[in-house]
Amino acid sequence: MRERVKQIFRHLDDGVDLIVLLNATDPHIDMSFFYATGLTDGLFEGCGAWLTPDGACEITTSALEEEAAKKSELPIEVFRSRDDSTKLLRERLKGHRKIGINAAELTHATFERLRTIAPKSAKFVDISDAVMEARLVKDAREVEMIQRACSIASRSFEEILPFIPGGVTEAEVAAELVYRMQRNGASGPSFRTIVGSGPNGAEPHYTAGPRKIQGGDMIVIDFGAMYRMYCSDITRTVVVGKASDEQKLMHDTVARAQAAAFTRMKPGARGKSVDAAARTLIDGTKYKGRFIHGLGHSIGLAVHDGAGLHPASEVILKPNMVFTDEPGVYVPGFGGVRIEDDVLVTRQGPKYLSTTARELLEL
Ligand code: ZN
Ligand code: ZN
Repeated sequence: MRERVKQIFRHLDDGVDLIVLLNATDPHIDMSFFYATGLTDGLFEGCGAWLTPDGACEITTSALEEEAAKKSELPIEVFRSRDDSTKLLRERLKGHRKIGINAAELTHATFERLRTIAPKSAKFVDISDAVMEARLVKDAREVEMIQRACSIASRSFEEILPFIPGGVTEAEVAAELVYRMQRNGASGPSFRTIVGSGPNGAEPHYTAGPRKIQGGDMIVIDFGAMYRMYCSDITRTVVVGKASDEQKLMHDTVARAQAAAFTRMKPGARGKSVDAAARTLIDGTKYKGRFIHGLGHSIGLAVHDGAGLHPASEVILKPNMVFTDEPGVYVPGFGGVRIEDDVLVTRQGPKYLSTTARELLEL
C-alpha cells in the first residue's frame, strides 16, 4: 500500500508532514482509510490511518478490530478506552507542523477533538482533493475487485430475469436481486437497488415500492454488488412482454447515446466532452431535454468515488480510471430508460467491466 500513500502525497505540494484519516462511527467511516491500509473488511469505528511522505502507513485501532487490522500487515497500535485513544492521538500528533485531514469525510466533532489534542503550533490542511485524485486511478488489485463486483452483479441480474413477469412487486424484484448477489459472493449491495416499473421508471432516483409489475411495463433496474468493499453499478431496462414501438425507440436512443460516450472514454478525454457525446445525440431526437442527469461517475470504494462526467466536468481521463456510462431518457407519466455500464479506461481504449446483455430484453 506504500504506493497508494505516496500517490496521495504526490498530489500535495505544500509541506504536509503527516496525514491522519480518522473514522467516527458508522456511517461516518472514511473509505480512504481502507484505500490507504489496503484492508477490505471490518468496520474500524474510531480507528485511524497515519500516513507519512515516505509512504509509510500505521494504524491506530480499538481492541475490537485488532485482529482485523493485523491482516493489513502494517504497524498497529491498539487502544482500549477513550482516554487511551486520546493519549495515542496526542503522541502521534506531537512534533508535526502541517497535518493533512480529509475534510470531505472527517466529521466536525472528530476534527474538533483532533484540534484540541494537537500541539498549538500545528496547522491543519484539507487534503481531500489529493486523496480523491489518488483514488481515481485504480491499481491492479482495485481493478480486479471492481471486476469481481461487476461479474457478480451481471450474473445475478441474469438469474432473476425469469422471476420478473410472475406477478411480483418492485420490492420483491429488488429483494431477489440482492439475495442473488449475496449468494454469488457479494458482501452486500453497493447501494439501494432501484426497480422502477411503468411510470415509476421516469424518476431516476426512485428506489422500489409495492407496485405490482404488469404486462407491458418497462422497468428500470439499477443495481450493484459490493465485493470486498469495491462497488459495481449497473442499470438495465427491460419490458414485460412485447415492447411497443415507443419503448423500442426510447431504448434505442439511449443505447446509441451510451455507445457514443463509450467510444470517447479514452485517456486524455475531458469529462464534459464524454458527457456531450451522449447528450448531443439525445438532444438531436424527440427526447431533447429528457436526459436530466450527468452521464456518469467514478466508482471504486464508493459508488460515487470522487469525479463525475457531466456538462461542467473538467476531469481528464487517465488509464485505470473507472467510470459509469449511464445516459437515460425520462418521460413523466410514461416511464424511463437508463442503460449503465462500468467502464475501465485503458491505453488501448475503453473496456466494459459489466457484461450482461445491453439490448432491450423482452421478458
Ligand atoms: Zn446506477
Ligand atoms: Zn451510477
